Amino acid sequence: AKDAGRSCHRFFEARMAEKIQLRRALEQDLRRAISRDELEVHYQPKVDARSGAFTGAEALVRWNHPERGQLSPAVFVPLAEELGLINAIGAWVLARACADAATWPPHMCVAVNLSPVQIMDRRLVRSIRKILKETGYPAERLELEITETALLGNDVQALATLKEIRALGMKISLDDFGTGYSSLSYLHRFPIDRIKIDRSFVARSPNDAGSASIIQAIARLGASLGIKVTAEGIETESQRRFSSDEGCSELQGYLISRPVPHAQLAALFAKARTE
Ligand code: C2E
Ligand code: CA
Ligand code: CA
Ligand code: CA
Repeated sequence: AKDAGRSCHRFFEARMAEKIQLRRALEQDLRRAISRDELEVHYQPKVDARSGAFTGAEALVRWNHPERGQLSPAVFVPLAEELGLINAIGAWVLARACADAATWPPHMCVAVNLSPVQIMDRRLVRSIRKILKETGYPAERLELEITETALLGNDVQALATLKEIRALGMKISLDDFGTGYSSLSYLHRFPIDRIKIDRSFVARSPNDAGSASIIQAIARLGASLGIKVTAEGIETESQRRFSSDEGCSELQGYLISRPVPHAQLAALFAKARTE
């Protein structure tokens, strides 16, 4: 039994060492990912809930690791935040997204995710302005998605940054709404143009009564505050119908399309134009 305990202990130590090693390997690799051209931006289209017409797309970063294949941002974005690499990666994504979106039909918007770490960076606004200038992309067609976490804590700085972004003509979306630290006061303290209902609620709708009521409540809240509401993670026809009937103005999810490489998105937009 003593031996078993010891070998069990050694097993966990080995697992732990393996994990630390993987992190270290990824850390080295992530530092070089931009210069080695391993990052890529995929786009998930969004549609108008009433007409079904495309309104634009959300930019979602991917890492094509030379040995490990395509890695999810859920894995490497938190690592990039810890390593102080998220500002550089975020700026790279923004520049790529604006350059790509500059080729879209003129009414389409691109939405780009911003890490809370980026919101805290005093150079953020300058960096965005530089990218808009270099790509010639209009600020009015750029939407920045932030999470409630970004508004916690140092909210004086966050508020100043968001006001500056707004003054330049960009739109601000509150992502993953309803999870984490949702506070209704954010909606009127911060300049928010859009709420994105978290997909965990959408996934359980319309059958789960609790989730359905939350979607209803958020949609009404948005309507009464003059804030647009997007339902994300729409996978089924009944979810689409429910969110649309409850007053969400925009929809996003696998039912419409998975995130796709830019060439594929451009083809979708072109096809819609001729239909
Ligand atoms: P998010 O911003 O909430 O993005 C939506 C995620 O849900 C995406 O995962 C998307 O592929 C997935 N999704 C969309 N529709 C459906 C659906 O119908 N069903 C299901 N099951 N999933 C759906 P992805 O691309 O893996 O991104 C994960 C998260 O990583 C994002 O969540 C966002 O928080 C973060 N992220 C992605 N790109 C960036 C980026 O450029 N910068 C930052 N800071 N974070 C990013
Ligand atoms: Ca390696
Ligand atoms: Ca998002
Ligand atoms: Ca989300």
